[in-house]
Amino acid sequence: MRKNWKTKLIHPDAHAPEGFRSLSMPTYRGSTVLFPNAAAVEDTWDQHEVGYTYGLYGTPTTLELAARICELEKGYRTFITPGGQGAIALINIAFLKAGDHVLVPESVYTPNRKFALAVLRRFGVEVTFYPPTIGAGIPALFRNNTRLVWCESPGSITMEVQDIPAIADATHRIGAMVALDNTWAAGVYFDAFAHGVDVTMQALTKYVGGHSDLLLGSITVRDEAAYKRLGATHQLVGCAASPDDCSLALRGMRTLAVRLRAIEASALELARWLAERREIELVLHPALPSCPGHELWKRDFTGSAGLFSIVFHQQFTKQQVLAFVDTLELFKIGYSWAGVTSLAVAYDFHSTPNRPDYGARIVRLNIGLEDVEDLKADLTRALETMNG
Ligand SMILES: *Cc1c(COP(=O)(O)O)cnc(C)c1O
Repeated sequence: MRKNWKTKLIHPDAHAPEGFRSLSMPTYRGSTVLFPNAAAVEDTWDQHEVGYTYGLYGTPTTLELAARICELEKGYRTFITPGGQGAIALINIAFLKAGDHVLVPESVYTPNRKFALAVLRRFGVEVTFYPPTIGAGIPALFRNNTRLVWCESPGSITMEVQDIPAIADATHRIGAMVALDNTWAAGVYFDAFAHGVDVTMQALTKYVGGHSDLLLGSITVRDEAAYKRLGATHQLVGCAASPDDCSLALRGMRTLAVRLRAIEASALELARWLAERREIELVLHPALPSCPGHELWKRDFTGSAGLFSIVFHQQFTKQQVLAFVDTLELFKIGYSWAGVTSLAVAYDFHSTPNRPDYGARIVRLNIGLEDVEDLKADLTRALETMNG
């Protein structure tokens, strides 16, 4: 066919040579996916079964990331979502309906709590918050309509490690499901499916991304039934992840092991060192005996991350704690974590119901990849101003 130059802009005859092989996964962007003929056109989400049909359901870049997260978590299949919170919302929407009852730990990531309160309740789902350390006591909270039990271990900010096998065991006995936020363990330090979890999610924004420059989430399921249910819902809520972000996450994965190892060592050293400081009452790091559920961490986890909290002694005011955070120089102030930069955020628990009595004396630290002696010096300087 003869083509005008304007047509050639869209349908060129010229092409780069083929056969390029490199070590990195290309970034496949695309909404439209081409079908071989008119009869082959169909809108089906399960790209594993029918091949590629539409960009919303994943491009090779998205599905490569999904497959590799799934491999690490030892699940059946994984979905990639535009963020960790999107993964939480999708799990709730896929597995709950009006009239159901869901159990959520009091230590859960705050937007997960808010989704339950603001959205699930509005759609007629009953929500109960439970103490994260409840373990085998969870049946006391079951109702006839309990369908889903959320877990997050360790919990956000207060770091309680949960007895997941005990909770899963009880939950399965009433035919309900267990969903786990496995972000702290980066999907690797806690083998969720071996401990009875049915569906996991992670904020890939955190350790998999690892550089504070992307937002992504994942949902991994144990079996085909959960996969079908999530896939059908994922299709209709239309939350597709960007292949560009997935490409960054695939790059992040290659260095995940070395980053985790370095961060674990620094965080442990700083946590133990902070535990000796007279300003500090409590270090909430799962690998330290002072953390609620430490024995469960020892039993069930294979490593620890760089996120932990410190609680100052009663004598310190909120202003002194805020001043401590403000005095830090290497530790920056900001949400999200698991990047290469150390962070510090102070919390005030006075208005959150049923939380430990930490008041406004709790600070969460994210340990990055700076030299640990420099971090110690930064902390020392900030601690010393508190006594002045
Ligand atoms: C950050 C975080 C999320 C949410 O992830 P986003 O990608 O920021 O939406 C969920 N759970 C936990 C435990 C987190 O720390």
